[in-house]
Amino acid sequence: MTTETLTNWARNITYSAKELHRPRSVDALRALVAGSERVRVLGSGHSFNEIVEPGPDGVLLSLSALPPVIEVDPAARRVRVGGGVRYAELARAVHAHGLALHNMASLPHISVAGSVATGTHGSGNGNGPLAAAVREVELVLADGSTLALGRGDERFGGAVTSLGALGVVTALTLDLEPAFEVSQTVHGPLPLAGLDFAAVSASAYSVSLFTRWRHSGFDQVWVKRRTDQPFREFPWAEPAAGPVHPVPGMPAVNCTEQLGVPGPWHERLPHFRAEFTPSSGEELQSEYLLPREDAGEALRALDGLREAVAPVLQVCEVRTVAADEQWLSPSHGRDTVALHFTWIADAAAVLPVVGRVEEALAPLGARPHWGKVFTVPAAALRELYPRLGEFRALAEALDPAGTFRNAFVREVLGG
Ligand SMILES: Cc1cc2nc3c(=O)[nH]c(=O)nc-3n(C[C@H](O)[C@H](O)[C@H](O)COP(=O)(O)OP(=O)(O)OC[C@H]3O[C@@H](n4cnc5c(N)ncnc54)[C@H](O)[C@@H]3O)c2cc1C
Repeated sequence: MTTETLTNWARNITYSAKELHRPRSVDALRALVAGSERVRVLGSGHSFNEIVEPGPDGVLLSLSALPPVIEVDPAARRVRVGGGVRYAELARAVHAHGLALHNMASLPHISVAGSVATGTHGSGNGNGPLAAAVREVELVLADGSTLALGRGDERFGGAVTSLGALGVVTALTLDLEPAFEVSQTVHGPLPLAGLDFAAVSASAYSVSLFTRWRHSGFDQVWVKRRTDQPFREFPWAEPAAGPVHPVPGMPAVNCTEQLGVPGPWHERLPHFRAEFTPSSGEELQSEYLLPREDAGEALRALDGLREAVAPVLQVCEVRTVAADEQWLSPSHGRDTVALHFTWIADAAAVLPVVGRVEEALAPLGARPHWGKVFTVPAAALRELYPRLGEFRALAEALDPAGTFRNAFVREVLGG
């Protein structure tokens, strides 16, 4: 047990927990949970809001001292991964067996359990969020007992993207596929006028558009092509002459290899290299996910806010995500366009602009990313998730005393 002061990666949140524990075994973890009234699990701390915060009377659990389980089953094309493992180490282990995950987020340093708990995603019209690969979740419940929930269980729709509200995820089993290679090229600039978003986002396995909204359009489009799929040209903008960073002018040395050089999936799908480990970040992030058919309207709405957005923005990234079935997934039930904002690290300047972006996107049914900064009122949030009532019932059934329901979760669930 330690009482050290802990912050999230962005250092905009200081956790107020009375105790921090790093149990060394699942049995020790079970005993700790059974003996605690309020518990939250800290993943790799890459969320930007109070989703992790257990409150001053609560216990924060880190799984970083548990043995780092990564059990690859090559014949079944599956991997069982411990609750504290990060994508960078998982990807290397999986690749060593000639296997791959379907997708990765922009940064490989985030934990698997924490990422799927918030609906974290990469890009690609056909790629569901990272949680779409999960086939089983192993939980330690509030009374210290264990429960495995797999696909086929009627509760599974609430089990993966669960905001940490059901119990401690000690392991996850993920689907794998044969390893593949990806080549990455960056193109730009690409004006908004005349943009055929459907064609651009369909032009490769994974496409990300970046802008600082200093002009009406995009500075860069990152095009990630699988080399085992037919090559499609990107005719809408010129290729970059050299490697670039998503924020123009920043050094590209930490970015994954570009200029069309093929390489392993896990060294191209993230934008940033695994060897580069940012210990903290001078930024805030927000993201809104809405039906993909409304991408054009959403982008025009943001274009109309350029004068407010640009001064507090580092960069905005536009991606696509395939519909999935997790009840609390921001891409639940709808093919999605995701509008991401990396803001400057000044909450007072950023929050009013966040409010204006939310106001502009609300008519399009925009769901905020669970792990990022948002101000959408809880009542409005509940309207956006048709199966939220089922999730609340599941949380109450598995955790009747609300051990894992912190203020953030209680607000979302409505008490
Ligand atoms: C630089 C950067 C880049 C990012 N890129 C992307 C991106 O490309 N796409 C995207 O969608 N998001 C992205 N994010 C957001 C990030 O993926 C999410 O905030 C994600 O939840 C981070 O995982 P974490 O382990 O750090 O979670 P934490 O912030 O530590 O926790 C998030 C939630 O998971 C729960 N949790 C964590 N581990 C467990 C466990 N073992 N058992 C039970 N509950 C658990 C926590 O209690 C909490 O509710 C990015 C964030 C940063 C800082």
